[in-house]
Amino acid sequence: MADIDIRQLGAFDEQHPPDQQLLDDCVHCGFCLPTCPTYLLWGEEMDSPRGRLYLMKEGLEGEPMSDSMVQHWDNCLGCMSCVTACPSGVRYDTLIEQTRAQVERNHPRTPREKALRSLIFAIFPHPKRLRAMRGPLRLLQRTGLDRRLRQTGLLERMAPHLAAMERLTPTITEAAPLPELVPAAGERRAVVGMLTGCVQGAFFPGVNAATARVLAAEGCDVVIPPGQGCCGALSVHNGREKEAQTYARRIIDAFEHAGVEHVVINAAGCGSTLKDYARLLADDPLYAAKAEEFEGKVRDIAEILDELGPVAERHPLDLTVAYHDACHLAHAQGVRTQPRALLKAVPGIELREIAEGEICCGSAGIYNILNPEPARELGERKARNIVATGADVLVTANPGCLLQVASAITAQGHQLGMAHLVEVLDASISGSSPEGLRHRTI
Ligand code: SF4
Ligand code: SF4
Repeated sequence: MADIDIRQLGAFDEQHPPDQQLLDDCVHCGFCLPTCPTYLLWGEEMDSPRGRLYLMKEGLEGEPMSDSMVQHWDNCLGCMSCVTACPSGVRYDTLIEQTRAQVERNHPRTPREKALRSLIFAIFPHPKRLRAMRGPLRLLQRTGLDRRLRQTGLLERMAPHLAAMERLTPTITEAAPLPELVPAAGERRAVVGMLTGCVQGAFFPGVNAATARVLAAEGCDVVIPPGQGCCGALSVHNGREKEAQTYARRIIDAFEHAGVEHVVINAAGCGSTLKDYARLLADDPLYAAKAEEFEGKVRDIAEILDELGPVAERHPLDLTVAYHDACHLAHAQGVRTQPRALLKAVPGIELREIAEGEICCGSAGIYNILNPEPARELGERKARNIVATGADVLVTANPGCLLQVASAITAQGHQLGMAHLVEVLDASISGSSPEGLRHRTI
């Protein structure tokens, strides 16, 4: 990188432009095209992975950053399906994150875009603010005002981005706060830290509670350090590098003295970012080594349960389950077999595969708010494929996917139970009736 002259960078500044060597790995074979959701939707070369890489190359060769270039990069969901599909091992994940940080620094957004992004980032990475919204949202839902507003179609016409936010809001349920330590049931096999997340913590507290119960039942002391905050996933996926680095440092600090062997996460998007902290903080002399050590401890909940092996008895659940691969679990972390093995180990569960399983559901962090139309089309496509499995319950491991898919399935007039993987395991370990899962809505 040192020999790149700033005057030759074109679209990019000298601070980590898209890596030329990584770009050169692309041999233009096109194997990634059929798995790219935006290429599937529009059939445009520049909205394929190969096209976006070509634009990065053009930018490095001196082409200034244009609105059209940015539009094609913005259209990317960051689903990393192309990383899985690429036979040449092109690191599109690293390249698009380098590019997004450049766009954020060097491309002026319109006042409307700025306002929407400011609103999103003033809310989502702040667990306290999200929790504070629970009361007013519950009131809206209990009085039915949210449904009436949706029926008028007014919000959809006037502010489609806000309408998408409203549509995706889950039903707010009661939740008791988690203690700082949930002790292992029986003999202790591991001490693990648990990341509670922003959206997961505020809107899916039941998933966090189930995660702690399952880990404890499997012999883990579960340490839940206070003051964790956001892991930085949304920021890093949207080019807000400095903000993401600040959040990452805070997470590392929160777990530094917790004395845990592993840090467990139950949200796929957060997990892939936590596993990339070493790269995110590589230029920070105080945190680079800490980030590397931290990254080595991170495990998705399915990985740690698979590594430990089961000791808690599984009671039967008579259910047909469709498992949806969250992109940031399957494509970004390579975690595919473990969740399926955990589900298959529950007596009574019949597991069904979803057609086009590698294609994103359209959630992609805040993509479904920033780009509601393509996200809706992808959600509808995913919902049709899920319903076609004939399953009683859809299971996945990411809050964003649950919200997106639930909204699309409901809009198509179908009813399906919706659950996180740990909620299924929790129900089996506790001997609960499968009916709770069959009728579980979001
Ligand atoms: S990350 Fe997903 S949307 Fe973006 S180029 Fe790759 S496959 Fe297409
Ligand atoms: S990114 Fe990989 S799969 Fe796609 S065109 Fe380049 S080499 Fe081929």
